[in-house]
Amino acid sequence: QMPPMSAETTASRGYLDWLIAMPWNKRSREIRDINRAEQILDEDHYGLEKVKERILEFLAVRQLAKTQKQQGSILCFVGPPGVGKTSLERSIARATGRVFVRLSLGGVRDEAEIRGHRRTYIGALPGQIVQRMKRAATKNPIFLLDEVDKMSMDFRGDPSSALMEVLDPEHNSTFIDHYLDTELDLSNVMFICTANVLYTIPSALQDRMEVIQISGYTESEKLKIATQFLIDKQLKQKGLKTSGLEFTDEGILEIVRHYTRESGVRNLEREIANICRKIARKWVADKKKKSAGQQFVIDPKKVRELLGVARFRTLMANPTNEVGLATGLAWTEAGGEILLTEATTMEGKGDIVLTGKLGEVMQESAKAALSYVRSRSNQYGLSKNFHKLLDMHVHIPEGSIPKDGPSAGITLATTIVSALTAVPVRRDVAMTGEITLRGKVLPIGGVKEKVLAAHRARIKTVILPKDNEKDLKDIPESVRGDIQVILVETMGEVLDVALERPIHKKVQEKYTKEQQRLPRVGGADRPEVH
Ligand code: ADP
Repeated sequence: QMPPMSAETTASRGYLDWLIAMPWNKRSREIRDINRAEQILDEDHYGLEKVKERILEFLAVRQLAKTQKQQGSILCFVGPPGVGKTSLERSIARATGRVFVRLSLGGVRDEAEIRGHRRTYIGALPGQIVQRMKRAATKNPIFLLDEVDKMSMDFRGDPSSALMEVLDPEHNSTFIDHYLDTELDLSNVMFICTANVLYTIPSALQDRMEVIQISGYTESEKLKIATQFLIDKQLKQKGLKTSGLEFTDEGILEIVRHYTRESGVRNLEREIANICRKIARKWVADKKKKSAGQQFVIDPKKVRELLGVARFRTLMANPTNEVGLATGLAWTEAGGEILLTEATTMEGKGDIVLTGKLGEVMQESAKAALSYVRSRSNQYGLSKNFHKLLDMHVHIPEGSIPKDGPSAGITLATTIVSALTAVPVRRDVAMTGEITLRGKVLPIGGVKEKVLAAHRARIKTVILPKDNEKDLKDIPESVRGDIQVILVETMGEVLDVALERPIHKKVQEKYTKEQQRLPRVGGADRPEVH
């Protein structure tokens, strides 16, 4: 009965449309066959045994428990990009027969995006949760909250507190959106979150989640994923099933090593798609010619021909043992990396320069390492006031990548000791660990990624803090076989392994005499030795 042209009519109509469109009591029939779920997870993904096991346990408990509270918390997959977090969730949706909806939280900083605007505002709309529920059209979809770690907050409110209500099994049966302004039952929704890192997720939100870590793949796992899944998928997508296109193992490894640098397989898939596209073009062009029916074999040479100049050189272990150059291990959101750390000394007056875009914590770590070395100058055969006569420059190349964290402590200390004593560091040893002023080695994070990175770089020995022993079980057997892991508690133990030879005073003196007769090579100058 309202006049149709009035603004109020449109607003009220819009509101009623939303109310009617919501899935108040429509639900999709759930498939409860756990064996079938296992089969589907295996069909879609290679490896990830532990992750699959956790998912199946989670599904089983959800079936047995009657109340929401018992059914447990929200699953959260944490791992670098391209390791299959999103596609695992699609598989879960397929295995349980639920509808799949996805909401990307990257860059969301307004609470109203989650919970909507009140209807008094012109152009008000419900929040994203309600919008996705409308799209799902059932009250029990699988709801993927992508990139929870990329959410931020500003003066418009904190979206994570709104999410907290959505994810809390005790409260989400009465979720109120500002626009709908009535209770919506979200208790049947299966929420799953994904994140690249955990530390940016507010702890109250983390408490509500059951975190499943997915770390990167090894080279051989990537090869298997490519041959068993990615290539088939791309051939099908590009209509090349019958083209006789064949990838050799060496060809795939060439792509993995020189055209991608990642823990996951997303770029690998992209490059395979790239090759398929180029072959598709050739194939279509050739079809009209006599050469039709030609076989395409993708070996390393063909990869270089199609993809152009290699994009990445795999950061390999240093070719020779060098003074003042140690191999560290770092962890970034994209996975593990090896980090060559350089130090050199020059005549000067005791300045220390740190370069390579080092974060504050890493700079502090370098200073702690230097103080540690100074406090042990006697032990390392350095003159008491060596620091007054020298300037030291510590540099971590690949300058454009910001680096931070305390885990480079022992690497920095090793580099500094090596630069000062002129004893080379073994090229096939990589290390990671925090250092205290007393020379104790403290545990660090990201062990699996770091060891995988060392393996990629053909490192033979990895030095890890003793307290990280518990993380060793996560390292794949194939990698454990190739790499010797040495657990240490003190800096002395690190140097015993990492330096080419021990720095005992006598050895040191002899060495110095020898060296004085030789022309100096490289950047490492020695201080006086007494
Ligand atoms: P994420 O969400 O972790 O960033 P995606 O789920 O988008 O990554 O995965 C990227 C691609 O890699 C998808 O095509 C996915 O199917 C594939 N993929 C990742 N891990 C595996 C695996 N273990 N087995 C098969 N395919 C995989």
